[in-house]
Amino acid sequence: MLEYVRSELPRWEVSLANEVERVDSLLADTDAVLDAYMRVPFPRERLQAAERLRVFVTATTGFDHIADDVLAERGIPLLTLRDQQAFLKNITPAAEHSWLLLMACARRLRGAAAHVLDSQWDRNLFPGVFLRGKTLGIIGCGRIGGWMAHYAEAFGMERVGYDPGLAEWPDNIERSELHALLERADFVSVHVPLLDATRHLLGADEFMLMKPDSILINTSRGEIIDEQSLLAGLEEGRIAAAGLDVLTGEPNVDGHPLVAYARTHDNLLITPHIGGYSPDALRTVLAFCCGRITEHFGGDDARETS
Ligand code: NAD
Repeated sequence: MLEYVRSELPRWEVSLANEVERVDSLLADTDAVLDAYMRVPFPRERLQAAERLRVFVTATTGFDHIADDVLAERGIPLLTLRDQQAFLKNITPAAEHSWLLLMACARRLRGAAAHVLDSQWDRNLFPGVFLRGKTLGIIGCGRIGGWMAHYAEAFGMERVGYDPGLAEWPDNIERSELHALLERADFVSVHVPLLDATRHLLGADEFMLMKPDSILINTSRGEIIDEQSLLAGLEEGRIAAAGLDVLTGEPNVDGHPLVAYARTHDNLLITPHIGGYSPDALRTVLAFCCGRITEHFGGDDARETS
């Protein structure tokens, strides 16, 4: 991928933040950073070492791993994908993965596949939930939530959504308050950013409102769910199943109580934050970000003279 970025921007010095040492060795002579992977954090000290830096582009919507105050102090633009809605709308891997988790939970895929590997073949153990006519509750009806609504529509499901911040409400989602949504939905899928207001948006009180046979999907951030309460809900059978792509404390999940639960219970399916990770999507996103760097420096003509 580094080769790819270099071939896109042959005359620029671009650091692809893939390894801390590599990034540190490049930063002093770097005009533009393209942070492709979020693998390397950019705290104050690291950014201060980048004396020549003129633009910081990140191929992510979130930027809590970047000391944006340092960039602001130095007048260096931070270009994230957060405000690039028209471009992002068609980047669908995270939505597709959310849907995969929903279907896998509905059909108990984890347990059924393990069952066959154990040389068994008893379908009575894996009754499936069928989707048509069921209700999907979407918390956060932006880009990913919007795609979930499209997928649900294709599967003949009712769609109900909660999103107090959405400027233009989509036609294919019925608007609801949070508690009414939780009481009504057979599937609840969470697609909100992690903010003070969304931390533990779903906790013990909210899980009590959900139908006992409901399924919860979270691909947003672990902290949006009170994980202890989710664990209690799963243990007490108040939530039928959950599919998670994110956990509080990731990537250090050794000893995480939900991971421990999942080792012995197949109604919890956890994946390692792979929702948005797709090389073909990354290629598209990086090409877009490279274009933003070129544009920042004034395109081809400016490139010759700078
Ligand atoms: P988005 O900005 O398009 O949509 C988020 C929506 O949440 C917005 O419409 C906003 O109004 C709404 N919202 C904000 N606060 C809310 C609240 N308190 N209650 C209800 N709705 C609220 O973002 P998106 O692209 O759909 O992504 C959603 C989240 O998914 C991201 O913030 C990120 O955390 C996560 N994500 C995860 C992966 C992954 O790999 N698992 C990939 C991409 C994004």
